[in-house]
Amino acid sequence: MNTSDSVNQYFDFAAEHLDLEDGLRDILKRPWRELQIAIPVRMDDHSVKVFNGYRIQHNATRGPYKGGVRYHPDADQYEVRALASLMTWKTALVNIPFGGAKGGVQCDPTSLSSDELNRITRRYTLGIEHFIGVNRDIPAPDLGTNSQTMAWMMDAYGQVNGYTPGIVTGKPVELGGSVGRDSATGRGVMNLVEQLIEEKNLSPSNMRVVVQGFGNVGSWVARIAYDMGFKIIAISDVSGGIYSKLGLNIPNVLKYISENKSIKGFPGSENISNQEILELDCELLIPSAINNVINESNANNVKANMILEAANHPITPEADQILNNKGLLVLPDILCNAGGVIVSYFEWTQNLYQRHWPEETVFSELSEVMKSAYKDVKNLVDSENLTFRQAAFVIGVERVVKATKLRGYV
Ligand code: GLU
Repeated sequence: MNTSDSVNQYFDFAAEHLDLEDGLRDILKRPWRELQIAIPVRMDDHSVKVFNGYRIQHNATRGPYKGGVRYHPDADQYEVRALASLMTWKTALVNIPFGGAKGGVQCDPTSLSSDELNRITRRYTLGIEHFIGVNRDIPAPDLGTNSQTMAWMMDAYGQVNGYTPGIVTGKPVELGGSVGRDSATGRGVMNLVEQLIEEKNLSPSNMRVVVQGFGNVGSWVARIAYDMGFKIIAISDVSGGIYSKLGLNIPNVLKYISENKSIKGFPGSENISNQEILELDCELLIPSAINNVINESNANNVKANMILEAANHPITPEADQILNNKGLLVLPDILCNAGGVIVSYFEWTQNLYQRHWPEETVFSELSEVMKSAYKDVKNLVDSENLTFRQAAFVIGVERVVKATKLRGYV
């Protein structure tokens, strides 16, 4: 099953629960428009390579299309389509005025030079330029892209359309980005953790946390969790993981990474594999990297009490079922990682009226939106005996259904 079909399984559950008519299910399940382009690029060695690029617009009934651009070898049409639909349900769940979209370039950014990435990004932007717009579709960073990529996108778009900072979010602050956007996804995850520990009367120092993935999302989760007093017993990146029973000192780990370009060999830690990290005994497991890492082959071995999906779709539906049967609490991606797109919304708003918010405003508004979405989900979990994922999809889908009907599509 591809990721797009997996996400649609969750949609189907919500559609059934809401007793939606078939025609409406058809409208909401399929993307509105899909654009696939060729991106020819002159490489540093003078050869020419052609990459596949995508921008898939899933749904815009609640506002302009919104979603990141992923640079990854697996970013094909199916994956981008699935991620686009997740954006629709995510923006609806946290109740911000956007729809859902996703972009991708099928490439391995780690093997490309900065000049090559700049050329790819400009070509990609020009290829989708007619398809996006400040009130139409607003890209942002995702796996393999960052604020620099957004600066190139904004510049390439501006060369055709004039100065348009609101065309992308996740820009550098110097070019109109919002303060707090880089840490937003990780901070949003920790806003939920804060809510959970308050509800369950838990203390951070007694909680062992495992963070899988140490890119933008994972590294901020680890930093903020460390500052809040949690015991981070393991972290990992693509090359493998490190474990310390006593807890890792995250500021020192960050220093070590900047000096050694790797987490491996961090003093006082043991090396562990990317498989082992997901199976560690802990209170909180936070997958923060790529899709489908917890699947049928390892779900039975997961020993965490709670999982927060900071990545998009880290758990397959089969594994989700296994984890639910084991009684694990899983907070789904469309809730957990919404902090990124929420602060993107704040950035877009700031760009529209050209006034910048201070950091305290960004952080407090983010926390408010995250906690209110959590409460909406929790209320439905309790009143209708659903899992958190089921409840999150029911809320997201129901909001899009309402907008669809009001617009008079059906
Ligand atoms: N790529 C992030 C996500 O998957 C952020 C998207 C955005 O800010 O538009 O939610």
